[in-house]
Amino acid sequence: IVHWPFVASQRKRLSWVQLAGHKGSFKAGDEGTILKKFSENEKLCFERLRGDMLQPFVPGYHGVVERDGEHFLQLTDLLGDFDGPSVMDCKMGVRTYLEEELVRARERPKLRKDMYEKMLEVDSEAPTPEEHRQQAVTKPRYMQWRETLSSTHTLGFRIEGVKRPDGTCSTDFKKTRLKEEVIQVFKDFVAGNTSIIKKYLIKLEEIRRVLGASEFFKKHEVIGSSLLFIHDHTERAEVWLIDFGKTTALPEGQMLDHQVPWQEGNREDGYLWGLDNLLKLLHSVAKE
Ligand code: ATP
Ligand code: MG
Ligand code: MG
Repeated sequence: IVHWPFVASQRKRLSWVQLAGHKGSFKAGDEGTILKKFSENEKLCFERLRGDMLQPFVPGYHGVVERDGEHFLQLTDLLGDFDGPSVMDCKMGVRTYLEEELVRARERPKLRKDMYEKMLEVDSEAPTPEEHRQQAVTKPRYMQWRETLSSTHTLGFRIEGVKRPDGTCSTDFKKTRLKEEVIQVFKDFVAGNTSIIKKYLIKLEEIRRVLGASEFFKKHEVIGSSLLFIHDHTERAEVWLIDFGKTTALPEGQMLDHQVPWQEGNREDGYLWGLDNLLKLLHSVAKE
């Protein structure tokens, strides 16, 4: 049988999935690449990552391209080399908004009825008596409450989405908070195959070491960035760092520890604390 090149590339494109973000912020790129809607901040991160120790662990960056009048960052499609991959997006850190977003939300502390209603939908007991009286909450209040639903606050990471080999996706993890619940999602993700968990552990330990030594990592507040887990039936398993849309450089001379608790003003993101929790949790799965 002759496999024409376009058949192969079409098959690959069809297997591409997006587990987070707005629909429409991605396009298929040329062979083996995807296009992500341009952000100046993310572009700067990819440029600074060039030459950093972390570079082998982030998608290849191939510059800015224009399509239909819009600008995109061209990135290597990380799913490209897999056959029917399972994919998981884990958003790292103890918060997923920037300190400056919190400050901005506070500047005009408008009462938001829509946010009160979203809160009610999830948990009718969440609003305080005063918020019930006002039938509204402020945006900073809503932002901080939302983070307590998932494991972001308690574990320093949360699951955003999973794609199974049959192609079905699930992004219904907004309230997956308990350690036991997270463990169950990982077990389902690898279909009980602990040898895949062990491969992920090797990869994550390597990432942990490199993060501890990376200049880029020391000098950035890493918010809303994910670890993308990918494996397939061949038991190949890889992890990459993705999404630097909210990763922000610190002022010259300043550094983060990424482990100590966040207090407003210290800009700490809890990335390594979350990664260590994730490692512990996966070690416990591997031992079963
Ligand atoms: P959000 O900020 O809401 O998390 P976003 O618009 O910044 O979303 P990303 O998080 O970068 O987008 O990516 C969304 C999803 O697209 C990821 O969860 C992953 O499934 C897929 N994705 C992103 N980059 C790549 C890549 N280089 N290769 C393969 N898949 C990718
Ligand atoms: Mg993301
Ligand atoms: Mg993002």
